[in-house]
Amino acid sequence: GEGTSRSVEEPKDKLLGGLLTAGFDEQSCISRYGSVSYRKGSEHRPSTYLVSRLRSYEALHKQCGPNTESYNRAMDYLRLGNASAPPPSDCKYIVWVSFSGLGNRILTLASTFLYALLTNRILLVDPGANMTDLFCEPFPEASWFLPPDFPLKDQFNGFGQSSPRCYGKMLKENSPNLANKLKPPSYLYLHLVHDYDDQDKLFFCEDDQSFLKEVPWLVMKTDNYFIPSLFLIPTFEEELNNLFPRKEMVFHFLGRYLFHPTDTVWGLIERYYRAYLSGFDKKIGIQIRVFDTGTGPFQHVLDQILACATREHLLPGVDKDKSISPNSDTQKSKAVLITSLSPGYLEQIRDLYWENPTITGEVVSVFQPSHEEYQQTEKQMHNQKAWAEMYLLSLTDVLITSSWSTFGYVAQGLGGLRPWILYKPENRTVPDPPCRRAMSMEPCFHAPPFYDCRAKRGIDTGELVPHVRHCEDMSWGLKLV
Ligand code: GDP
Repeated sequence: GEGTSRSVEEPKDKLLGGLLTAGFDEQSCISRYGSVSYRKGSEHRPSTYLVSRLRSYEALHKQCGPNTESYNRAMDYLRLGNASAPPPSDCKYIVWVSFSGLGNRILTLASTFLYALLTNRILLVDPGANMTDLFCEPFPEASWFLPPDFPLKDQFNGFGQSSPRCYGKMLKENSPNLANKLKPPSYLYLHLVHDYDDQDKLFFCEDDQSFLKEVPWLVMKTDNYFIPSLFLIPTFEEELNNLFPRKEMVFHFLGRYLFHPTDTVWGLIERYYRAYLSGFDKKIGIQIRVFDTGTGPFQHVLDQILACATREHLLPGVDKDKSISPNSDTQKSKAVLITSLSPGYLEQIRDLYWENPTITGEVVSVFQPSHEEYQQTEKQMHNQKAWAEMYLLSLTDVLITSSWSTFGYVAQGLGGLRPWILYKPENRTVPDPPCRRAMSMEPCFHAPPFYDCRAKRGIDTGELVPHVRHCEDMSWGLKLV
C-alpha cells in the first residue's frame, strides 16, 4: 500500500492486467514493458471489455493503418473529393493535429483515441515538431503517425473556425438541418480549441454525431480533455459504461496504454529515479505551475505549498528553535520531487529543511530535475524533460499539484494518484484553505459545453449525472469522478 517502498518487489505484471498487448519486441521500446519495475502494482484492473476492445482496435489499426491497401483507397478518396465514387466503407479516420503544450497534447490525444474507439475510427497522429522523440508506437505492426505526404498536412496550422471545412462554420452556413442538405464531405475539420463557439460545440450532440459518422476523414484540433462530455452523449453511454465500470480510471488506463516514453526519455526518467529517488521511505511530488505574470519565485506560492503540505501532514513541520530532540522517526526519510520552471522554490524548501530540524525527526531531501524558466514547446530536449518530469511525478506516493495545469493532470492520472490541489491564488495571497484533496484522479475538461441538445437550451452539464461533476480547481470545468 501507500508508504511502502517500491523496491519491495512482488512478481510484476508487465502487461498491466491485459491493458498492453504482448505483441511487441521488448527491444523496440524499453519503457513499454519496463515501466512496471518502477511502479507500485496497480490495484486497479482494466475491464475485460476494455481489454477486448483494445485488441480489436489494434486489429483494425493494422488493417487500415498507413500504407495499407485500405489506407491508400481512403487517401484517393480524400484527394479526389466526394464526387468521384462512394466513400470506401471499411476504414474511417480521425487525424489528431499536434497543438499546444505537452500536457495538453497528452490529454487531447487520449481523448481523441477514446473518440476513435467509440466511433470505430483509426487514430492518426500528426507528429508535429517532436511527438516521435517523445512517444513509442502504442499499436503493434502499424504506425499511429501520419505519413509525411498526407495531403492536408500543410493546412493543419491554418485550420480554424473560419476554415471552409470547419464543421461549426458549415453549420452556421447551413443550419438548422445540415444533415438533410449535405452529402457527407470527404473530410471535415473539428475545432475543439478552448475558444470554440456554440456551433463547434454541437460536436457533443448525438444528431451531429450521427452526421459525422458518415464522414470518412475527420481532422481535429483541440487543447482540452473533452472526455467528460462524451459521457453525456446518450449514444456513447452504454459502451462507455462497459469500457469503464469505474469512471475515474479513464485517463489512467488510456494513458498507461498509449503513452510509452521513447528510450531517450526513458533514460532521463530511469537515471533520475535511480540517482535521486529510489531508497526513500516515501516520495512526495510537488508540481508548481504559476500562471501569474512576472517571474517567480513568489512568496505567496511558497507559503501556500508549505501550508498545504504541513496542514495535510504530507511533510513534517520544522522546529525553528532548532532544538534537536531524540525522536522515534529519525530513521525515516522523505524525498520531495519538485517540478517547476523556476529554481527558486527548490532552493527555499531545501534550505528550510537544512537549516531547521523537523518536528518528527524525519530527514527530508529535496530535488528538482530542471528549471527551464519558460515554456519552449518547439525544442526537443525541453519537451523530453517535460515528459520525463511528468512521468517522475507519477512515480511518487503523494502528489501536490497546481490548479489549471494539464502537466499535473497527466502525472496524477498516470500515477493513479488523487492529488492535493493547490487552489489558484488571487491577488497574490495564500488561499484559505491552501489546498484540497481531489475527488478523483481524472483531469478536468476546462471548456465544456453547457447545452441540452434535445431541449436546445442552456443547461448545467455538471448537474446531470453523478459521475460528471464540476472540477475542484475550475468551477466551470467538468471531470469524471
Ligand atoms: P499546462 O500549461 O500547465 O497545462 O501544461 P502544458 O504541459 O500543456 O504546457 C506547459 C509547458 O511548459 C510544458 O509542456 C513544458 O514545456 C513547460 N513546463 C511547465 N512546467 C514545467 C516544469 O515543471 N518542468 C518542465 N520541464 N517544463 C515545464
